[in-house]
Order: sequence, then structure tokens, then C-alpha cells
Amino acid sequence: MRAYGVNELRKMYLEFFESKGHLALKSFSLVPKNDNSLLLINAGMAPLKPYFTGQEVPPRTRVTTCQKCIRTGDIENVGKTARHGTFFEMLGNFSFGDYFKHEAIAWSWEFLTEVIGLDPDRLYPSVYEDDDEAFEIWEKEIGIAPERIFRFGKEDNFWEHGAGPCGPCSEIYYDRGEKYGCGSPDCTVGCDCDRYMEVWNNVFTQFENDGHNNYTELENKNIDTGMGLERLAVVVQEVDSIFDVDSIKAIRDEVCKIAGVTYGVDHETDVSIRVITDHIRSATFMLSDGITPSNEGRGYVLRRLIRRAARHGRLLGIDHLFLTDISKIVIRESKDGYPELEEKAEFIFNHLSQEEKQFNKTIDQGLSILADMGKDMNEKGSKELAGADAFKLYDTYGFPLDLTIEILEEKGFTVDKEGFDKEMQIQRETARAARKTTNYMGADATVYEQLDPAMTTKFVGYDELTCEGEITAMTTETEVVSTLNKGDKGTIVADQTAFYATSGGQEADKGVIVSGDAAFEVEDVIKLSGGKFGHVGHVVEGTFNVGDKAVFTVNEKNRALGAKNHSATHLLQKALREVLGTHVEQAGSLNNAEHLRFDFTHFSPLSDDEIARVEKIVNEKIAEDLPVVTKVMSMEDAKKTGAMALFGEKYGDEVRVVSMGDFSVELCGGTHVKNTGVITAFKILSETGVASGVRRIEAVTDQGVFNYYHKQEEELKEAAKALKATPATLLTRIESLLAEVKELKSENESLKSKLAKDALGDVMDQVEEVKGVKVLATSLEDVDMNGLRELGDNLKEKLGEGVIVLASQKDGKVFLVAMVTDEAQKAGAHAGNLIKAIAGCVGGGGGGRPNMAQAGGKNPAGIPEAVAKVKEILESQIS
Ligand code: ATP
Ligand code: MG
Repeated sequence: MRAYGVNELRKMYLEFFESKGHLALKSFSLVPKNDNSLLLINAGMAPLKPYFTGQEVPPRTRVTTCQKCIRTGDIENVGKTARHGTFFEMLGNFSFGDYFKHEAIAWSWEFLTEVIGLDPDRLYPSVYEDDDEAFEIWEKEIGIAPERIFRFGKEDNFWEHGAGPCGPCSEIYYDRGEKYGCGSPDCTVGCDCDRYMEVWNNVFTQFENDGHNNYTELENKNIDTGMGLERLAVVVQEVDSIFDVDSIKAIRDEVCKIAGVTYGVDHETDVSIRVITDHIRSATFMLSDGITPSNEGRGYVLRRLIRRAARHGRLLGIDHLFLTDISKIVIRESKDGYPELEEKAEFIFNHLSQEEKQFNKTIDQGLSILADMGKDMNEKGSKELAGADAFKLYDTYGFPLDLTIEILEEKGFTVDKEGFDKEMQIQRETARAARKTTNYMGADATVYEQLDPAMTTKFVGYDELTCEGEITAMTTETEVVSTLNKGDKGTIVADQTAFYATSGGQEADKGVIVSGDAAFEVEDVIKLSGGKFGHVGHVVEGTFNVGDKAVFTVNEKNRALGAKNHSATHLLQKALREVLGTHVEQAGSLNNAEHLRFDFTHFSPLSDDEIARVEKIVNEKIAEDLPVVTKVMSMEDAKKTGAMALFGEKYGDEVRVVSMGDFSVELCGGTHVKNTGVITAFKILSETGVASGVRRIEAVTDQGVFNYYHKQEEELKEAAKALKATPATLLTRIESLLAEVKELKSENESLKSKLAKDALGDVMDQVEEVKGVKVLATSLEDVDMNGLRELGDNLKEKLGEGVIVLASQKDGKVFLVAMVTDEAQKAGAHAGNLIKAIAGCVGGGGGGRPNMAQAGGKNPAGIPEAVAKVKEILESQIS
């Protein structure tokens, strides 16, 4: 057996199954399409689900892939077992109602033993305990001794996911030898240790589970297999773990080089090396599929992976940014099978280092918060950090628990780990409860699933705005029907249409469908699985029947307006790349007759100058009246033209390329203007942030620009009118008004302070003494409670130590404030009791603290009595 490399093995596998009549498909994106049950693709079969259910017709009944997979559930295993990565590649061969167990088993055996040359004596198959058919195939057709075939229960060897297709599995294990064993006398195939490694899993999808564990035989039986490419390489290259196979070892070596450490010397160090190696491999692939770090969903998974890697970098003593250097090796090693890695390299590096920098900041912030917590513990004389605190550090500041433990350990503290786990458990349960349940396909079931998957619609709307077609299916909102009557809401499907269906950011056409006297208003057009177009709307007149011929007419004006905004979006994207740099990638887009919206990757808000430059470039390209040309060509040729493709978008072999002069080339299925001059004008209305690293521009074209300026002009006129000026004199008018306001303000200030002084008058003359304590009790006019308190504070400063009581009436109400300084309190004076005792005189009540109290009243006539009473009360308070 030769020690084939990872890239060789991938090729050998795909070619072997191509020789068995399979169509080799490119790996699907890690981001699932129309599947809410999965955050990330985790198996070769996941993106093929519509073919398994029959909802879509596969391009061939035999398909083979090498699929990028992420399993976050395995994150804790990474670095600890020899066989788990968060990222791995899954080789698979699939049959959609074509071949079944005999062929699947025979071919997997042929591939492993004949193509690769593995020693048959070290291979062990397992089957589901009740699957005698598979057992017999292994025994009789392949010739494996029965004692070498293992039967396992449902847990291990039955593939099932709630309701839907399911079936027994047959796995193939490879015995890597005693040195990898756990030493237990029971250690055999199926043991969790690293000796018997599961390399291949064949799933025989032969039943349908109705959701209540009632199983019926499927008419079309399917084959779904999965073999970890890295694990196969471990076996073939006879190495210890997936971290020792050629392409992953190269990454590992780079980590060691940067950290200045050697692999295989110290266990803890090795775990860190493996974690960094694995996580940056995952992160690089996720970024290449357009996922960016954020605080939820996939973005959060990515953030965790990057931060964990950065954190282990610190543990290894790396004190500078290093993640992009690791990522470069990932790309070098895997670009063979995944050219998108190289195409998106700049984007990947940008996000990696941005996130790494942010994490470093977080760590420093976390350290200072932890220091505060440490101080707190010292004060309380506690030696253990509360679980809730540790969790807060982890959850809010992204501060890993092990780091918290490590730092506290140095100071002789511990962490309440149980408390931490409890908090974690609570959070997990909340998250689980929030997660929605989905069906087998991971989507809400709709009426369209009942339509014949083989039925398709031909789109002729690039050249025609009206065409004839035959109605092939119709639905209401809940069921498939054969007629729709006046007033009915529903969907019409036809064999041919001129209507553009919402896709690629372009909103659908509007228009009418007419058949004889019957008319249907089209409000939306959607793409249904299998290449069908659904015209959604309502019947305005008459009756439609399946089989009717009808004329499909697109609203021309709406289409033309939308085309201007769509074409302008292309110019905008190119202009952004010229002004900001080639890291700008489309992150989302929407255009219709009214406006356009474009989301793109960039890290900071655009300056006014940048916005102006972008606008200027787009308007120049409009003025140049560039011809807009669309061509259909192979993906290969399209790449040569430098066309910009979207992340993870699955393009067919043939793609449509839209170019505008030499300025912009994009892959695009949308409808456009014939010359950029038609767009007339372009104006950016707003530039905002929508997520970390993603900006959004909203803009208008043509009439939209004029409407915008018209509105601005109207507002300007209104503003001028309000200031009794004209737009031309508005600025001078505002300047003189501002000067006037400034003058009035300062005049007001000086008046206020004069008033306050006047109000105080010569009150200091009224200071008296009660048993050696200074007392100032007086009344004022027209000052409210806030004013009294302010005055009181003022007087307290002047008085030094003593008691102050102020009374005032304003709008028929009475306000009382009493203040007692520290020394006066020591002498026995109490503001609260004092106020309580005198408030009765003004028909009110109140109280407060010893140093400060206030009260309100309704009887201004009682003010002199209240003031007079102060001395009397103090006599009794002061000893
Ligand atoms: P294990 O029990 O070892 O975690 P599994 O039962 O989860 O494996 P399957 O779901 O059957 O594995 O996936 C099919 C194949 O994908 C496995 O036979 C294995 O070769 C590979 N595989 C699964 N998980 C990983 C992983 N985390 N890293 C690398 N390869 C994996
Ligand atoms: Mg597993």
C-alpha cells in the first residue's frame, strides 16, 4: 500500500465512483440552503436531502461528492481524540432509488482493499442487529468470516432523524493495532478508544418513519454513505491521528514554528497545537463560504473557533497576531480541492486578524474585570470566585473558564466550577427551548411540496416581456387545485414565462396573466424547487383551469425601473472596490423599481469623501453610456474574464456573465438596461452598519434622484420660510440668529445670578444661635423646591456649621427645606424631625433624613409661624 496524500485520496475516491456511473458534484457550501434544522452542513447527505425525499429531481440517480463538513458537537473532542476535527471532509456515494445494499457494500470493499490496498484482515464490518440481509452480503458475497461481522443496536447502527426516511447502517472499522488500544480486556470493534477506527458508514435508507415509530418500506430505496477523508488518510499513511496526515501536519508544523515549540513532547502543549490547527482550518473554510464572526448562529460558531485558537496561541506563548499565517498554510494545502479558498484569501485574512485583534482587547478587558473581582474577594475574605461571576466573564466578555481558573490559581484562589456548570446548563436549556422544531427537510412544509418535482418552467423573459404558456399547475394557499375563480388568491405555474422570479437580489416582475376573458394579477413570482416558477397573485376576472393556454405579460415600466437600479448596483459594487479596496464583497443585495440596497464587507463607516468618490465614479460610468452585454459561458471561461462570483453560490456549468464596458463584470441572472446611460443618475441616500464588518448602502437612480432633490429643495424652502428668509439668505439668517441667541443666553445667566443674590439679600444678618448652634431660618418669594435646595447648599457653605430652614411660596404652594450640618447633628439637631414639627403650620406634612429634609404645604399664611417655630423646636432638640 502506498501512503497516498489527502488530495490524492479525494481524487481517487471520486474517480472510482465515477467509474461506477456516478456524477461527481463539487462540494456544497457549508451554509445550508433552505434548511433551518442545521446551522452548518455536517454530512455529505445533508445538502442532498431534496433528492432523497424526491422533492427535487437529482441530476443523476448516482452521485458522489467530497463534502466540507463542520461538527461543532465534536469541539470538546478535538485535540483529545485522534479522530475528531471540527472541520473534516466527507467522501460519499449516493443512490437515489438506484442501486442498493449489494452494490454499496461490494464497492466500498473494492475501494478499500483493491484501490487503496488496505489489508482485508484488519477490516471489520458491522451491521444493524436485525439486518440479516446486510450480514449475509458481507458473509456470502464478500467472504468475511461471520465472527468478524459485528451486530450493533439502534443507537449505533440505525440512522434516523424524527419523521422521514431512515434505515439501518453498516460500518467499516480498521484495526490500527494494539498500541492504539485502551488495554481493556473488552476492547474490540465498537470500543470508544482509538484502536478500532470507524472509517466508513453505509446507510441503507429503506424505511419511512411516520413520526410515531411506525415503519413502512420505501418504494425508492436510497444509499447514503460517508467516509471521513482525514480518517482514511490516517489509516493509509499509518500515522497516529488526523493531525499527522500530510495536509494537516503541514498546518501543525507552522503552529510549532510560530510558537517555537515541538510537537509530541508535552501533552498540554500538544492539545493547544491541535486545537489551533483544527480551529483555523475550520475558520478558514467557513470564511471562504462567506460566514463572518458575530454573536449568533454560524457567526458565533466561527467567533468561538477563532477565539479558542487565539487563546491557545497565548497559552503557547505567542504574543503577536499569528492566525493569518496559519490560515495561509490551510489555503496552500487545500486549494487543490477548494479553489474558493485562494479566491477569497484577502477576505479571510481580513476577518481573521480583525477578530484576533478584538479578542486580544477582550482578554485585556477581562483581565481588568477579573482583577476587580479578585479585590472584592480579598475584601470579603473569600477564596473562591462565584460560579455566576466566572460565567459572566465567560458569557459576556468571552473569557474562557480555564483562563479564569489559571489566573486565579496564581493568586491562590479557586473557582466554583459547579456553579459555573449550573449557569451554563441554564443557558443551554434556554437556548434549546428557543430552537424551533423542523421537519426532515428542516423547513416549514408548504403546499408546493406536493407539486410534481419533474415539472419545470422555461424562462424567456430576458428577450420578451410577453409570451404564451400553458398552465401546468395551480394552488391556493393551502392546496393544489385544478381551477382558480374570480377573487381567489393562489399560484399559477406554467411551462413557459416572461416573468422574472425573485433571485440574486432582484425583486420579481409584476404584471398580468390573461386567458380568454380571465385575468390574473401577478403580485410576486417565486422560484420553486425543480426549476418551476410560481406566479403568486389573485384572479381579477373569470376562471383559470390547468391546461389553459395563457398570455403572460410583464409590467414594462416596473421592469424598466428595476433594471436601472439593478445595473446601478453592479456599478456601485465595482466603484466600492476601486475606492475602498478589493476586500469589498457583496454580502446581500436588493433592488426593485423604487430603490436599491447593497450590503458589503468593510470594517468602518465610509467617510463623506469616500461616499462622494463612489457616487462620482458611478455617475461617470453612467455618463460614459457603456454598453451592457450579457453572455452565457462556462464557469471556467467566466473566471478568466475576472467575473465576480458570490460566496457559496452554486452555479451550474453554464453561467451568465453581465459586463458593462470594461468597467464591471459579474455573474448575474438578472435583467439589466442596455446602456448605462439609461440609468441617468445615481445618488446614495444612506450608509449604515448592519453587522460587524458589514456596511449597507441605500441608493436611488433616475427619477428617484430627482424626487430626492425635489424633496430636499422643498424642505429647504420650508426652512427658509420659517425663518423669514430665502434659501439664498438662509445661512446668514441662521448665523445672525445664533449670535442673537448667544447674547441673550449670557444676558439671562447674569440676570439669574443677580436674582439669586437679591433673593438671599442680607439673610446672613438673620443668623441666630440656639445653645451655641448657628441657625438661619427665613422665608423667600417665588422659589420652588429645587431652587430652595440650591440656595440651601449655597448658604450652608457660607454658614460653615449650623442649621438652615428655608420656606417659600410659589403659585399658592408652600415649600420647606431643612438642612443640618454634621457638627449641628452631633449637637442633637435633626432635619427630619424639625420639618415634621413645623410642616403642620403650613397645612402640610413631610420628613426626611437627619441632615436634609423637605416638605410641602397648601397654606402660605402659615409661613411666618413655621419660621418662628424653628428656634423653639431646636431648643428642645439640642442638649
Ligand atoms: P464517531 O463516532 O467517530 O464520532 P460518527 O458516528 O459521528 O463517528 P458518522 O456520523 O457516521 O460518524 O460520519 C461518517 C464518517 O465521517 C465517519 O465514519 C468518520 O469517518 C467521519 N467523521 C465523523 N465525525 C468526524 C470528525 N469529527 N472528524 C473527522 N471525521 C469524522
Ligand atoms: Mg460523532
